[in-house]
Amino acid sequence: MTSVTGHSDDLSGRTALVTGAGSGIGRACAVALARAGAKVHLVDRDAESVADAARETGGTEHVVDLAAEDPARDLPTEVDILVNNAGLQHVAPIHEFPPERFTLLQRVMVTAPFLLARHVLPHMYQRGWGRVVNVSSVHGSRASAFKSAYVAAKHGLEGLSKVIALEGAPHGVTSNCVSPGYVRTPLVENQVADQARAHGIEPEQVLADVMLTRHAIKQLVEPAEVASVVLWLCGAHSGHVTGSTFTIDGGWTAQ
Ligand code: NAD
Repeated sequence: MTSVTGHSDDLSGRTALVTGAGSGIGRACAVALARAGAKVHLVDRDAESVADAARETGGTEHVVDLAAEDPARDLPTEVDILVNNAGLQHVAPIHEFPPERFTLLQRVMVTAPFLLARHVLPHMYQRGWGRVVNVSSVHGSRASAFKSAYVAAKHGLEGLSKVIALEGAPHGVTSNCVSPGYVRTPLVENQVADQARAHGIEPEQVLADVMLTRHAIKQLVEPAEVASVVLWLCGAHSGHVTGSTFTIDGGWTAQ
């Protein structure tokens, strides 16, 4: 199946919906998809940042809390490309982990992707074409201490992605995960600044000695690099790529 106009990255005629589109990786995905010609719906709970991202991309913003009971209710069903990207972290040992935070991470990173897929798959099936891209993490296949909710959610998202791939296959719908190591986003930059203050060391040293110890390449991944893999997965040359995971982790999982 080729794209509407035949160019590999030309998404004109397609409609995309990106969650967590106000910041970081989600915003980079929205920009890349819009540049490729897709009409983009940007979903985020942060009204200010999603409005700003919508201006940048010429897309339509939707202020939605994905942890809500029915986050898909007011979102469009006519979506050809769904990027499940919104996420958050909470770090604590299991015996001190607040149960409500554990539930919140599952709701935003597993239940909402399920509900959104459920919402848009009928349209994709009807058109005989669709792309679901789930922004997972190295933590979709590896564990780190104190990240029980995040690791459980990302493993769950990887499983959900594979089931969507199997069910979508007869309908021209693919589903894949993109799984980064540490990416230069506000989330991570704040952690770097905090760690530098806490340890009394330079931010570069925090990256090399604290955060990037498991990356063979001692640099943060850029959001645009993640977005370019997402874009490729939505293009004309990836129709047989489904149920897969693409790690972008500077060599972390090679070890
Ligand atoms: P970010 O904090 O920069 O952006 C996340 C966005 O999601 C924010 O705009 C936030 O408002 C939105 N969001 C969070 N909870 C929401 C909710 N309940 N409803 C609606 N929107 C909500 O983070 P990022 O680093 O760009 O992360 C994006 C995705 O990439 C996440 O799923 C994260 O787990 C994943 N990821 C990030 C990294 C990294 O190093 N930054 C690494 C691997 C995976």
